[in-house]
Amino acid sequence: MNIISSFRLESKNLCVLFVLSLSLLFACAPERVQVNLIPQPVSIKQSKGYFKVDSVKAEKEGIESYIHCTIDSALKEIGNEGYLLSVTPERIELSATTSTGIYYGKKTLYQLLTSQGIPCIAIKDYPRFQYRGMHLDVSRHFFSKEEVLKLLDAMSYYKINTFHFHLTDNGGWRIQIDKYPKLTSMGSYRTEKDWLKWWDGDVREFVPENTPGAYGGYYTKEDIRDILQYAAERHINVIPEIEFPAHSDEVFVGYPELCCMGKPYTSGEFCIGNEKTFTFMEDVLSEIIELFPSKYIHVGGDEARKTAWKGCPKCQALMKRMNMKSLDDLQCYIIQKAETFLNSKGRTMIGWDEILKNDLDSSSIVMSYRGQRGAIVAANKGFRAVMTPGEVLYFDWYQAEPRTQPQAMYGFSPIKRCILSIQFR
Ligand SMILES: [Zn+2]
Repeated sequence: MNIISSFRLESKNLCVLFVLSLSLLFACAPERVQVNLIPQPVSIKQSKGYFKVDSVKAEKEGIESYIHCTIDSALKEIGNEGYLLSVTPERIELSATTSTGIYYGKKTLYQLLTSQGIPCIAIKDYPRFQYRGMHLDVSRHFFSKEEVLKLLDAMSYYKINTFHFHLTDNGGWRIQIDKYPKLTSMGSYRTEKDWLKWWDGDVREFVPENTPGAYGGYYTKEDIRDILQYAAERHINVIPEIEFPAHSDEVFVGYPELCCMGKPYTSGEFCIGNEKTFTFMEDVLSEIIELFPSKYIHVGGDEARKTAWKGCPKCQALMKRMNMKSLDDLQCYIIQKAETFLNSKGRTMIGWDEILKNDLDSSSIVMSYRGQRGAIVAANKGFRAVMTPGEVLYFDWYQAEPRTQPQAMYGFSPIKRCILSIQFR
């Protein structure tokens, strides 16, 4: 996607890039309570008194030893992520149908913990949304494995269950692929750290790995396995995004034969008329599938400019052969190939809302980023959809009057608007 989220962390010149899916809140409780839980549970009843806990010891050693846990599959009302929590001065009881529910119940207990102990309370909680996601674009701005783990910790605190890991785009290729080593050795470092400066600059260049002063990086397969394990321990599914067919100049630096003009920095799109493109796509997706257990794999599918396809003999020959009427059909062609391949491997495709141009398989999922319309259209056609509308969920837009803010991409999406959209729409 061309619209990136950047959120500055403290005084460091770091930009955390993420999109928060429209799924943050568990169901909203109408009742006002003294305790401040985020997200608010479905129902909450507070009574006087505390279960006494040594808070310092509890923070250090955990609160597990204080809790009586029960897994009861008969509690169908709370689903597989919900929990029931009862705190009295004498006892803490936590019930759920799965270990995920128990995990979320413990997260709530940590939010309740005060220096006086845990307030006496009865909570019923289950999520309003199945997909509660956070997106991180590590292509435009690279983040170390440790920073990703820190984000996963923050997500788990708020019961966010999906991490959308945007690993490839025209800011850099960020994951080791054994069959195509030049993706990382030539396409993961660039001349300038500041994304906007680099993107808008006169010299937009990738440089080989180990070039002195270069900005970038990538995750080895070992790094990815560590991240996946860390996420799984926090009941977070990691959805990788590998971008097709546009935003791919970082690929063509090492493999120029995969674009129409045969050289990088010319169009950014794969040549759809070249069979090697599909060999590449299947090879890369195969290594991704081997690494990521997620049922869902994101393939991008957005913002192809298509101009190079117009003048490319191979693309034009394919259009003629397949009786295609417009350049859009070429974009649909590669997305359909990706979908068919993923389905053959037992996986489900997710794409940005431009994939609605396709005659999609009923299992595929549409991610609505150009406002909410894509999700509405998708839902009306019977597809599952994830809400990621830029105007409320892209955190790289300005949060307040621009002159008072760190540099942002553009736009205006204050956190207040985000919260309102989640609660009332
Ligand atoms: Zn072509």
